[in-house]
Amino acid sequence: MKQKSYVIAALICHVLAYPCVCFGTYLWDTHTPITATLTVEDTDLCWYATHSVQAEDKDKRSYTHSGDPSPCYPDGVFDDTLTYEWSKSVGSNPQTGTFTSPTSGEGVSTVDWTAPPCTGTVKIKVQVDDKPDPMTGSHLADGSTRNDPAVEEEDFANVTLPSGCNDAGAHDNSVHWPDPLPAPTFNYTAGWGVTHTDAFKATYDLEMAYDNCTWVPQITNVQTNCTIEVHTSPFAGHVDVTNPNDIPCANALDAINDLWDADLHDGGSGPPRNVYWSQAAIVAHEEKHRTEWIDAYTDALDAAIATIEADCTIIDCSDYWTKTCQDAESTREDAIATLMNQAFTDAETALAPQVEWGPSEAAAVVYDALIDSIEDRCGITPKKTR
Ligand SMILES: [Zn+2]
Repeated sequence: MKQKSYVIAALICHVLAYPCVCFGTYLWDTHTPITATLTVEDTDLCWYATHSVQAEDKDKRSYTHSGDPSPCYPDGVFDDTLTYEWSKSVGSNPQTGTFTSPTSGEGVSTVDWTAPPCTGTVKIKVQVDDKPDPMTGSHLADGSTRNDPAVEEEDFANVTLPSGCNDAGAHDNSVHWPDPLPAPTFNYTAGWGVTHTDAFKATYDLEMAYDNCTWVPQITNVQTNCTIEVHTSPFAGHVDVTNPNDIPCANALDAINDLWDADLHDGGSGPPRNVYWSQAAIVAHEEKHRTEWIDAYTDALDAAIATIEADCTIIDCSDYWTKTCQDAESTREDAIATLMNQAFTDAETALAPQVEWGPSEAAAVVYDALIDSIEDRCGITPKKTR
């Protein structure tokens, strides 16, 4: 009899589609846990990415009964409503970037993210939980639940350098002079000699290289030069004293007078050289100019390069001109060129006002040796002394 009443009740329920009396119980089977597959996107620093998770939670509802062959509600497999909670933490990256879309709630299976201004990994984590949808009706078996444990998935998004940009590191920022230096040329007639520096302002390569969330200027391939021109010999109307034995003693005093530089610190006017001169002494003079210039210009360039390379550009994702090495370089290159050019002026300033002292002394070594030899050979006293 009891079994018959179940059947009748069930039939009424189904025919009338009306809240009815169910005699069995429902059971949620949560043995299918929440599944979640996280996909994180790698991107360049300060760029955008979308991380996503594919998740589902299928719960099975079944009816157990003892005699009633058809439940009030059908058995079946139902998708539970899922909630999402996104978070991030540092990996090898010192920063974590910024989420730019909602990070929690129903249906938030993706999250938009702006990468930090630094390279390295950021751990992206999502927690997926179910929001147990209530089952209409009141015939749950005791303890039956469709509430699955939350699951967590995490992975690393790798933040990379923009295309064409490199990590900072060891580099050759030294000043390169030709080795060997160009030999003096001897076609000059506009004066006794000249050392050319203006035409050889240093050229260099500039790269903004990445280091710890900044772009660091790296100067390489610093190239410069310095050339010497000396008066042509023979020089019409003049005698290039290459060998003091060539000077007749009758002309010794004239030669000594012409070759004697009475004041080595007078600004480089040199000895009179009315007739007698020495191409070798001019070479010594200009070579000394070149040596001193190389020292001064190298020092000034080294100082400029040290200043330039110590001044990094902090990468700021809100500032377009800092987001790539190329943009940072275009922002900085003019000011850097100004500093490199300033090194040239700094070297000139460092040498002045004694710029002619060393060269005059170097030339005097040659002149004085010639004079000494002439004096000895021709018996001229007292000898010239410094
Ligand atoms: Zn000079």
